[in-house]
Amino acid sequence: MSWFDERPWLATAGKSLDTLVPVPETSMLEVLTRTVAAHPERPALEYFGWSATWEEFDRLTDAFAAYLQDQGFGRGDRLGIYLQNVPHYAIATFAAWKLGGVVVPLNPMYKDELVHVFEDASVRALVVSSAAYASRVKPFTAGLDLVVTTGERDFGTDLPEAVFGSFPEEIATGCPDFRTVLEEYSGRTVEPAVLTADDAALIGFTSGTSGRSKGAAVLHRGLSSNAGLVARNQGLTADMRIFTLAPVFHITGFVAQFMASIASGAGLVMNYRFETGTALALFRQYGPQYMAGPATAYMALLAHPDFGPEVFAPFISTMSGGAALPQAIVERFEAKADRYIGQGYGLTETTAQCAAVPRGLRAPVDPDSGNLSCGLPLETAMIRIRDEDGTELGPNEVGEICVSGPMVVKEYIGNPEATAENIPGGELRTGDVGFMDPEGWLFIVDRKKDMINASGFKVWPREVEDTLYGIPEVLEAAVVGVPDEYRGESVVAYITLREGQEITPEAVVAHCRAHLAAYKAPHEVRIVDALPKTASGKILRREMREAAAAGR
Ligand code: AMP
Repeated sequence: MSWFDERPWLATAGKSLDTLVPVPETSMLEVLTRTVAAHPERPALEYFGWSATWEEFDRLTDAFAAYLQDQGFGRGDRLGIYLQNVPHYAIATFAAWKLGGVVVPLNPMYKDELVHVFEDASVRALVVSSAAYASRVKPFTAGLDLVVTTGERDFGTDLPEAVFGSFPEEIATGCPDFRTVLEEYSGRTVEPAVLTADDAALIGFTSGTSGRSKGAAVLHRGLSSNAGLVARNQGLTADMRIFTLAPVFHITGFVAQFMASIASGAGLVMNYRFETGTALALFRQYGPQYMAGPATAYMALLAHPDFGPEVFAPFISTMSGGAALPQAIVERFEAKADRYIGQGYGLTETTAQCAAVPRGLRAPVDPDSGNLSCGLPLETAMIRIRDEDGTELGPNEVGEICVSGPMVVKEYIGNPEATAENIPGGELRTGDVGFMDPEGWLFIVDRKKDMINASGFKVWPREVEDTLYGIPEVLEAAVVGVPDEYRGESVVAYITLREGQEITPEAVVAHCRAHLAAYKAPHEVRIVDALPKTASGKILRREMREAAAAGR
């Protein structure tokens, strides 16, 4: 038996293998049914003055499901959702699941990315805001069977100017309108599909360890068990409210907020998108008790003139995830808000989390590096550290973080090679490099994969490089991440130009912004004579990262 099999982290978390209470591993439909039955009259969703109880939420999802069914949407079909944090998100998700469908959360900043995402995930139907449809999504939708558009003002009576000021009252898209559909199908129900824990629930796009993004098939098992653990380990109950600090389209926001709300019965306060002043106003209005989001959101809150420690008084748990959390932020937030920021670690492939700091515990700091631990493995997770040959390493030894458990996805859709490479034998190779201390606290020290993590938004160099190669003047391109005080990392592009050609860094950035989600565009473009390469022509990324960090 190895050190890992003893699971020292359970004792650290105050648990033992013999007394563990299992969390339900089932379909999210079943979890919803239980919550609706237990708390029919309690608020499920709240959004700028609009609200729906669990029973009303259930009826809204039935109405949209009945509509989708009439359009021929059914078992296994994929519904793309290109939305911010709005009530339609939750309604569309459960409508698709009630028909046995699968949702494909899409970052609403995606542009050209939609071509391969729609294709790879075989998206049939799409829910998209009318403003986004009109401005950038329409050209990509020719192959879809159905597009339903939403209005930015469909729900909510008190929409803040800071967020909604730039949206026109209404945009006619010629597509079926979400709100009208809900009215027309009001009172209609569907026979809910019979789903098991092993059915796919959503397809999450992620880089894996290299190359173009791939669709990981997240199962109902992973969602129900991880949502149940968030609820249990963070102490969430049906009389509480969860604030959507993170975007729901990202797996962290989807699981640690939306699914955690379904599992606990705590209401979900939707905020459209993170805007600091609006978030602080919503804390005052709704008094939420829990939130989870990237470290940058906490930094922005701390820096805002309206920041007041009293707005954090109702919070029983404030969590961070998706990117490294600097210890300095934890300390500043604790000093000013009197709340400790906990943390979760995971990937899309681990259904958002496989390690977390349980409420009431404080993560240790590694004395050598000053790095904060990202948590203890969840009680359902087996986390092992392996060397290049796959051999298990012991406590405090640095290697690749490998994970198995109910939260690990079984496959990347349509990509058996990537599945075999990244999830051999059902154990996920995360591409993150780290160690566990003797008590089981996990520390991340490096990354094997090329991914750049800008405020929790993941950027894959390959995708940006492909876009750079679309510029006629560019001969060669390489993209790396450099440390950034605010974002964690930012994107730097190195390019060489074809003989006799010229282009400005600004024009290069503009090209990227026209084709890709804005956060992927290089923060800085450096035009150089040559890129460092191995004798076989492979770009030396590590060398480039070091040069970029040193400003060369
Ligand atoms: P994604 O699939 O977008 O959730 O990205 C997963 C990656 O985010 C992981 O492989 C890590 O590199 C990074 N990540 C997630 N949580 C943390 C954390 N708590 N600390 C540091 N990096 C994190």
